[in-house]
Amino acid sequence: MLTRVDSERCIGSGMCILAAGEVFDQREDDGTVVVLRPEPPADTWDAVREAARLCPTAAITFWTDGPSGTR
Ligand code: SF4
Repeated sequence: MLTRVDSERCIGSGMCILAAGEVFDQREDDGTVVVLRPEPPADTWDAVREAARLCPTAAITFWTDGPSGTR
């Protein structure tokens, strides 16, 4: 899996940190998101999917590489 965030869309709601704090964090200054692990490990994929679902501005994108979803 790869994930990225469109920082232009992020409003700093913090939902992604609540869902997947091991993958996302917030900047100290303005509260917008930082991706800590752009290639999150498999045991965090469900949390990343939940973070993307919860994000109020649909700023989070993720994708897997190929049908096996092994990346
Ligand atoms: S949930 Fe979306 S809007 Fe909120 S901090 Fe994360 S990326 Fe930004």
